[in-house]
Amino acid sequence: MRKSQVFLLSIFSGLLSLSAQNTSYWQQHVDYTMDVEMDVKTFQYGGTQKLIYTNNSPDVLNRVYYHLFFNAFQPGSQMDARLQSIKDPDGRMMENGKSRIASLSETDMGYLHVQSLTQDGKPVTFVEEGTILVVDLATPLPSGGKTTLEMEFKGQVPAQIRRSGRNSSEGVALSMSQWYPKLSEYDFEGWHANPYIAREFHGVWGDFDVKLTLDKDYVVGGTGYLQNPQEVGHGYETPGTKVKTKGKTLTWHFKAPNVHDFMWGADPEYIHDTLQMEDGPALHFYYKNDPEILDNWKKLQSKTADAMRFFNKNIGEYPYKQYSVVQGGDGGMEYAMSTLITGKRSFESLVGVMVHELAHSWFQHVLATNESKHEWMDEGFTTFISSLCMNEIMEQGKDNPFEGSYKGYYALVNSGLEKPQATHADRYATNFAYGIAAYSKGAIFLSQLGYIIGQDKLMETVRKYYEDFKFKHPVPNDVKRSAEKISGMELDWYLVDWTQTTNTIDYGIKSVVAEGNKTKVALERIGDMPMPIDLLLAKSDGTQETYYIPLQIMRGEKENPYPSLNRTVAKDWMWAHSVYELIIEVPLDEIQALVIDPSQLMADINGENNVYQPKE
Ligand SMILES: [Zn+2]
Repeated sequence: MRKSQVFLLSIFSGLLSLSAQNTSYWQQHVDYTMDVEMDVKTFQYGGTQKLIYTNNSPDVLNRVYYHLFFNAFQPGSQMDARLQSIKDPDGRMMENGKSRIASLSETDMGYLHVQSLTQDGKPVTFVEEGTILVVDLATPLPSGGKTTLEMEFKGQVPAQIRRSGRNSSEGVALSMSQWYPKLSEYDFEGWHANPYIAREFHGVWGDFDVKLTLDKDYVVGGTGYLQNPQEVGHGYETPGTKVKTKGKTLTWHFKAPNVHDFMWGADPEYIHDTLQMEDGPALHFYYKNDPEILDNWKKLQSKTADAMRFFNKNIGEYPYKQYSVVQGGDGGMEYAMSTLITGKRSFESLVGVMVHELAHSWFQHVLATNESKHEWMDEGFTTFISSLCMNEIMEQGKDNPFEGSYKGYYALVNSGLEKPQATHADRYATNFAYGIAAYSKGAIFLSQLGYIIGQDKLMETVRKYYEDFKFKHPVPNDVKRSAEKISGMELDWYLVDWTQTTNTIDYGIKSVVAEGNKTKVALERIGDMPMPIDLLLAKSDGTQETYYIPLQIMRGEKENPYPSLNRTVAKDWMWAHSVYELIIEVPLDEIQALVIDPSQLMADINGENNVYQPKE
């Protein structure tokens, strides 16, 4: 009896100290040095990697994990299995209704294997589990400690199936993303040794020093600053100088400071153009010498500069001196200081994909959210800001640049396939539900936040969020806190209902009746999700005014979004009451219309009950 009481006490004291630990932010750090040789005929490559790992966590680490992404492109892999079982597989990965991974031959499949691995010179035990390498350290790594992990590795570039690979559909030889053994991230939530099944990434911040040796005819572009431009030429050399190369291969030496990934593309037919912005970084473009695309890729260059200026102004200064747009891959994918995009597109589509991927430089490659867990924070915020950017730089003249996102979200709700945005990216039952939750519902998180706190406050929030969390791993609560600090409102209800549930918004005008010289309007909350209400009143004399009904749990009010119209701030709506009564100081017969949310930025799933017009 006595003994167990003592035991119980000791558990309690342990729990108390644990819960007190996680109060301050920390993040791990890696420094990669890689020396790699690529055989452009067999698409096999290999080399060495030296990684200095700094443990800034409060914990002792006995294990580390690496991602070996190319092992996904093998028959029987988890990526293959998922492709064969999901209801709506990605068409790019299918042929005649079958998984393309399932039929990859030995020479066409991908692999990435670690051949030897030491920790501070001592051999360690490691075991490959599909796309993850599990490493038991020789010596535990203490909190605050540093250790050096050195390996030899070899790989084979798979036929282009998804994102990276060889011989893309547009004939680009090498789209090299997810190509090296990449250390998994350990953060305040623990390890993220997430197998490569379909979705996106999470990485450790650090510095990269990469040497790539390959056939001298190939032009290379991607992440990092080239250290030896006068040795490799190919458009990197000082204009007017002659570059003499010896031998059959060239070694390209790149350095990339403070990034969490490293991508490169290479092709013997790349044209390489550079546009040095006066007020920004050097923009590099790599694209095939194909008459069909030349014109669009030339015109793309000034649009990239326009987009860079737009994002610098609206989010915050791009922190690197270089950005590269590289033709390759299978659509568009963001990487550190660069992107891989397909190039045979209409001009509008080419600009659209560039703008989207460039925006990811902020919402992923500087604000490095875990894309497996919070996919809406990178894809959604990118969709939000790129919709605004396209409207401006392509002069689209849209009143609501987010209209497409709202339509997508309503279609998802009606489909019955919606899952909460807090779902792990690999765990959606359909690609459709993932896509809309991440891109469309994620974009609406911000556009609708603008409805709640006001448009100016929204854009201030975006800039503060960037300023506060750049070069970190922000989580959903972080963007909510930025918005709360800027608006002075309490917004936890918004974050929780919108991102962790599938609760929907539906407000309606229930009844409008005369009450003497005034009018009594009953508004109704039909959906479970709370929102504040803007109500527009159009009068028969042609004038308009608005009523604003703050939500009580916001503990605040936004500024008048329509400064040219007179606004009445009504009493707060307490959520649990499904009906709210408003007295309007206008006789019923002078009311031409009443409209809930004339901006249509509130994602009300039934717009029909939002409008009252007297019957003729
Ligand atoms: Zn994206």
